[in-house]
Amino acid sequence: MRKNIVAANWKMNLDRVEGITLVEDILGKISLDSKTEVVLAPSFIHLYKLGKMCDDRRNIFIASQDCSASNKGAFTGEVSAEMIASCAAKYVILGHSERRTNFSETNELLKLKVGQALANNLEVVFCCGESLEQRHSGAHFEWLNSQISDSLFHLLAEDFSKIVIAYEPIWAIGTGVTASSDQAQEAHNFIRDIVRKRYGGNVANDTSILYGGSCNPVNSAELFSQPDIDGGLIGGASLNADDFVAITDSF
Ligand code: PEP
Repeated sequence: MRKNIVAANWKMNLDRVEGITLVEDILGKISLDSKTEVVLAPSFIHLYKLGKMCDDRRNIFIASQDCSASNKGAFTGEVSAEMIASCAAKYVILGHSERRTNFSETNELLKLKVGQALANNLEVVFCCGESLEQRHSGAHFEWLNSQISDSLFHLLAEDFSKIVIAYEPIWAIGTGVTASSDQAQEAHNFIRDIVRKRYGGNVANDTSILYGGSCNPVNSAELFSQPDIDGGLIGGASLNADDFVAITDSF
C-alpha cells in the first residue's frame, strides 16, 4: 500500500553513544499518532540496539544501508540480509549513489542484492538518480529507466510491492542544491509511469516514491505536497533530531 515514508540515512556517521542519543532524542519529539512511517538507517553496528529502542513504536522502523549479494560463507566484512533481518530490521536501502560510485555497484549486482533482501523478508528502499551531466544532456529519463528496470523489473508484482523507490539526483545529494519541486515531481511521475507500464495501475498507485537530495525542514513541505512524492530519504538533516522530526511532520 502507498504510504508516506521519511527515512533517515545516517551513512557512516555516529558512534554507539551518539546513535543511541539521537534516537532517544527523536523518540522524545516524534508524534506518536503520525501516519507517516519513519525509518532509521544507521550503521550495521546499531541495528539491533536501535531496533530494540523502537520496537514499541508502531510507526518507526529500522533499515540497513546495504546488504551482501551472497547469503552466507567466506565473504569477509560482508553482512547478509539474513543477519539484518535477525536484528528485526524492516528495510534495506540498496543502490545508493555513494555505493554505486565508491563501491562500483552495478544494476546486475543490485538485482542480486534485491533478491537476497526479499528472500529474507526485508523490504527494499531502492535508490536511483542521475548525474548533472546526464540531466544536462537530457539522458536522465533513460538512465532512471535502466537503473529501475535492470534491477527490479524481473520481479513478480507481489514481490515488487515490497519495493520503495527513492529518486535521488546525484547532484542534489549532500550539496545543498535541492531539485525544485517541479523537477522532482517530473522525475517521480516518470518513475510511476514506467512502473505502471510494467505492473499496471494498481501497483503503480501503491508504490511509495521518495525524494532524496538536500531535503530539509525548509523545503520538505513543498516537495512532499507534489502528487507523486510520498516522502523523503534524508541524509545530512537526519543527524539532527529537530530537523528530522520537522521533516517527518511536513506532510
Ligand atoms: C542521501 O545520501 O541519501 C541524501 C539524500 O543525503 P542529503 O540529504 O545529505 O543530500
